[in-house]
Amino acid sequence: MTTIDLLGRVSGAVIVTTPQEVALLDSRKSVTFCKDSEVPIIGIVENMSGLECPHCHSHIDVFRKGGGEASALDMGVPFLGRIPLDPDVVTQSDAGEPFALFNSDSPTAEAYHRIADQVESFCKKSDTLLKAVLRKG
Ligand SMILES: [Zn+2]
Repeated sequence: MTTIDLLGRVSGAVIVTTPQEVALLDSRKSVTFCKDSEVPIIGIVENMSGLECPHCHSHIDVFRKGGGEASALDMGVPFLGRIPLDPDVVTQSDAGEPFALFNSDSPTAEAYHRIADQVESFCKKSDTLLKAVLRKG
C-alpha cells in the first residue's frame, strides 16, 4: 500500500512476469493488489521470453513459454507481449542508452515498441476519460 500511496494517482499498471508456470501465482497477486488499490491494469508483459541463439539464430525457450499469456487469459486482463532475453539490451543499458531507441530494426526493440504503443493508447484513453469526468463535475 505504501508504494501506491507514494505514487499518488497513476494511469495504470503494467504487470511484468516471467514465462514459467509459477508466473501465474505472482501475476494473480499483482492483479489482486491493483484491484484492491483501484489501480487500472494496462496489461501483462512476459519478460525473459526466450533467447535467440547468437550462433545459429534458433529460438531457445530458456524459461519455457506462455506463463504471461496464460496469466492474462486466466485473469481477464490484456496480454501486451513478450520481451526476449537479449544480451545487447544489457550492453546498451549499461551504456545508459535506451535500447529500443537505438535498435529499431531488432526484434527485441520491436517487442518494446509494440508494448509501448499499447501503454500509450491506454494512457491516452484514460486521460480522455478523466477530462470528460472533470468537465462533468
Ligand atoms: Zn545455436
